[in-house]
Amino acid sequence: MGDDRDRWRIKPKSRVSIDRLDSRSTAGAPGDKTVAQATCGALRDELAALQERLYAEGERKLLVVLQAMDTGGKGGTIKHVFRGVNPAGLSVVAFKAPTQEELDHDFLWRIHHKTPGAGMIGIFDRSHYEDVLIVRVHELVPEDVWRARYEHIRAFERNLVDAGTTIVKIYLHISEEEQSKRLQARLDNPEKNWKFRAGDLEERQCWPDYMAAFDEAIKATSTAEAPWYVIPADRKWYRDWAVLQVLLETLREMDPQFPEAVEDLSRVVVE
Ligand code: AMP
Ligand code: MG
Repeated sequence: MGDDRDRWRIKPKSRVSIDRLDSRSTAGAPGDKTVAQATCGALRDELAALQERLYAEGERKLLVVLQAMDTGGKGGTIKHVFRGVNPAGLSVVAFKAPTQEELDHDFLWRIHHKTPGAGMIGIFDRSHYEDVLIVRVHELVPEDVWRARYEHIRAFERNLVDAGTTIVKIYLHISEEEQSKRLQARLDNPEKNWKFRAGDLEERQCWPDYMAAFDEAIKATSTAEAPWYVIPADRKWYRDWAVLQVLLETLREMDPQFPEAVEDLSRVVVE
């Protein structure tokens, strides 16, 4: 079986222009929306089974970094992809604008202690990448400061890998038009109003700057040990299916094993 991840993986030193990739693509899908959604049930079951092994093994860890433009579907991905996985083995961390205490430290300070521990799957909803994305776009620090962060990020992630963490970084790629539709839906649907921030419209004005920032950040930090995957995400069903593929291939490759019993159980009798 070939490696489905290659379709979306950004190779180190890639020259591809990220924002030119087709956000509506359904390449490789097992069929149309109905078929793909039906397939996802079995994929989720396999994800749950692999997660249980990872947890039981209790040594290695998986870190899933999710980045996207506003409305890109980070929340929906977490909700749909990890449905069925034992919550005890998951940690989900959403990184918001830094507090004063966080700003008083280096940009990785608040990130490091939120990384997953042994046996865990950690999901980052936004991450240290904000420090080369929004921070760059809004010039919150000078260019030489954010630019030096690419190297800090590569070294930080290498350290995590050396400590037994497998890293999967996912950029959910939506188009400007799709974002417009989703923002409008947040305005129109009372149950989605809570997600709407007027600030999202200001961020939207900076779309080209964000694309340039994502493009450079992804290419500068997609390494063999901590690769980026660009997932076409205008179609939510395709996004969920593709993310499941990436996570499953990664966990299959990790091949976590139930540990040996610590004691000789052959003579144990439960009275
Ligand atoms: P949300 O994910 O929609 O709840 O929004 C969180 C907000 O926090 C977004 O506008 C992010 O860009 C912002 N944010 C996250 N990390 C940082 C950071 N390191 N510096 C500045 N803003 C950030
Ligand atoms: Mg938001």
